[in-house]
Amino acid sequence: MANQRHITIFAPALGQPDREPLGYSGLVEAVRNGQAQELLWNPDLRKVRVTLLDGRQSVVDVFPENPVLIQEADAAGVPLTIEDSHQQEAWAGLMVNLLLVALILVGLGFLLRRSAKAANRALGFGRSKPRLRAENDIRVCFEDVAGINEAKDELQEVVAFLKQPDRFTSIGARIPRGVLLVGPPGTGKTLLARAVAAEAGVEFFSISASEFVEMFVGVGASRVRDLFRQAKQKAPCIVFIDEIDAVGRQRGAGIGGGNDEREQTLNQLLTEMDGFEDNSGIILLAATNRPDVLDTALLRPGRFDRRVLVDLPDRPGREAILNVHARTRPMAPDVDLAAWACRTPGFSGADLANLLNEAAILTARARKQFIEDNHIMDALERVTMGLPAAPLQNSGKKWLIAYHEVGHALVATLLHQADDLDKVTLLPRSGGVGGFARFTPDEEVVDSGLVSRAKLQARMAVSMGGRAAELVVFGRQEITPGASRDIEAVTATAREMVTRYGFSSLGPVAWEGDQAEVFIGRDWLQQRPTYSKDTAKALDAEVQKLAKEALAAACSLLAGHRPLLDELTNQLVEEETIGGDQFRAVVEQYQGTTAPVQDSVGRDLVKGLPNKAE
Ligand code: ADP
Repeated sequence: MANQRHITIFAPALGQPDREPLGYSGLVEAVRNGQAQELLWNPDLRKVRVTLLDGRQSVVDVFPENPVLIQEADAAGVPLTIEDSHQQEAWAGLMVNLLLVALILVGLGFLLRRSAKAANRALGFGRSKPRLRAENDIRVCFEDVAGINEAKDELQEVVAFLKQPDRFTSIGARIPRGVLLVGPPGTGKTLLARAVAAEAGVEFFSISASEFVEMFVGVGASRVRDLFRQAKQKAPCIVFIDEIDAVGRQRGAGIGGGNDEREQTLNQLLTEMDGFEDNSGIILLAATNRPDVLDTALLRPGRFDRRVLVDLPDRPGREAILNVHARTRPMAPDVDLAAWACRTPGFSGADLANLLNEAAILTARARKQFIEDNHIMDALERVTMGLPAAPLQNSGKKWLIAYHEVGHALVATLLHQADDLDKVTLLPRSGGVGGFARFTPDEEVVDSGLVSRAKLQARMAVSMGGRAAELVVFGRQEITPGASRDIEAVTATAREMVTRYGFSSLGPVAWEGDQAEVFIGRDWLQQRPTYSKDTAKALDAEVQKLAKEALAAACSLLAGHRPLLDELTNQLVEEETIGGDQFRAVVEQYQGTTAPVQDSVGRDLVKGLPNKAE
């Protein structure tokens, strides 16, 4: 028996077929007999759907032309409807087309919007992005800026101008347009500018000059225009431009001429500053640490004609800054910030803020409630020497480093002019530092910058102390590159002594200028050496002589105090850290109780450097 297959075919337009198909004759018969209730004829599909009186429906295949059925239906009065499937198809086609068009339109719209956004971005290039700060956002007042009192006093005047302009304009005084804050990084220039805005109760715009400069010529100029447009809307206000030397450098200088983009930006800045009406209420504050490279046009009266020096803080200044930053931190009652101010010469405000922050982090890590001296000490070492590394094993390397560091410390303790030893330690730091000897520079010398020749020579001898100890203890064949940084420092000092300070037999001639300027855009031709080859040789020989003298001085001192060197090194290896006072006590005791050390060789070599044993 053959397999029976059940195939179900759906007739979509005319509905489900009846279970008992009528057939064409049956259809005509049913119409004729009056059994049909209604006929629906689709000539294109060649089908008729008949609804019988009892409600049943049937679909019957018919010819495309069917006059008989029409006649019979007409005769029997059965309603016959002709269905036009073309029209339906046309509608369906129309719908599909409409859908397609709609899709295309939506796609096009999407693309257009994207390209419009990109175009907007391209056009927005020229807009400057100053960070506008509302007055109440800035919670910095003059009280928060410590240690730079002269600068603060000078800026008080600007605050007065902004607060009561009438007081000045009534007697014909012109409000300054620009104030240049000059000083090393981190000394509080930005902080001061913010404090001025806050004290005067005006808006504060801040932008870094490097943000003006883009890859495209003309963008910087348009950013400057935009910045001033925004500022004029908010006048009176303070506009702070950080690192003004990024655009304000002397024009037409540098290797290969000027930089078009930078010069255009600067020109625009000059034009905008001229365009201020007098007393318009906009005051520009700009910060730089290289005022000497600025274009003279920028500094002429009517532009940045006021210059306020914001220098590194002195000892009382550092104490005041530490106090400002200690206000918001829980300090242990016995912490003496004045002592910490003594230990941090050369630190800027930002360095001091960072020091206390590091100390706070270490305190939190130790799960303590209050910041104590030891936390600040650890923080200071982290900041100056790097993170602590794994301690050294009791190996040859440890002894070598110990001798090296005690070498520095002992030379410093024996020489009158050298800085005082703060501590010497064998605890290594990250970055390859095996240990270190730290000194407390003379405060007066740091502040005045006036270092005597004897002091410089003593410093060089101290720097050579490490290499000298290696030579004296281990011999010429065993010296290591550990002294490379000391040698670099000595060479730099010696070179400056010879070529800039006139401290050598070559006389008081400035053979070289400040090296750094060549790289920042001053005409490099002016910076090329102007001396002959013979002089260059003589200069090199003088530098070499000074460096050799320093090493010889250190060697003779250490050789003359060899037992002391050994004793202190033993102690350092045992204790890992020796404080300055403890170190000095050992040296004094040694010199007091034992026979005078054989330092006659030392005295001969340390010409002009009286040592403390004498
Ligand atoms: P600059 O603009 O001179 O590079 P900042 O004004 O940006 O330095 O200073 C950075 C941070 O250092 C400040 O936010 C502040 O915490 C701290 N600081 C710097 N100078 C002082 C100061 N004189 N008094 C108090 N804090 C200071």
